[in-house]
Amino acid sequence: MTTSLADTAHETWMTEGACHDEDPDLFFPISESDAGGDQIRQARSVCDRCRVESDCLLYALNHRIKHGIWGGLTEQQRQSLIRSRRRRLKPAAGRSANASSGRG
Ligand code: SF4
Repeated sequence: MTTSLADTAHETWMTEGACHDEDPDLFFPISESDAGGDQIRQARSVCDRCRVESDCLLYALNHRIKHGIWGGLTEQQRQSLIRSRRRRLKPAAGRSANASSGRG
């Protein structure tokens, strides 16, 4: 199996995560409501003291990871972040089109 430079970089930050010695199940709650809420709070408290939190979140976003808590965010929160990024980018594209057509 070939390992790319990017894969090696990921392995490096992953071993530095505050969750390295935690039970992995903590980061994969069954639901984001009710009983899962306590689990999410516990997992996020680990992420809050993690020095590679932004690397972790970026990895999850770039790899479109659907399940689990990454970078302190749940799946729903990551999806919400992606949607808000798209909304912010869309008007800019529209303004650009209007500007080039002389209507901007
Ligand atoms: S941000 Fe959270 S899930 Fe990601 S490496 Fe750190 S502790 Fe683990």
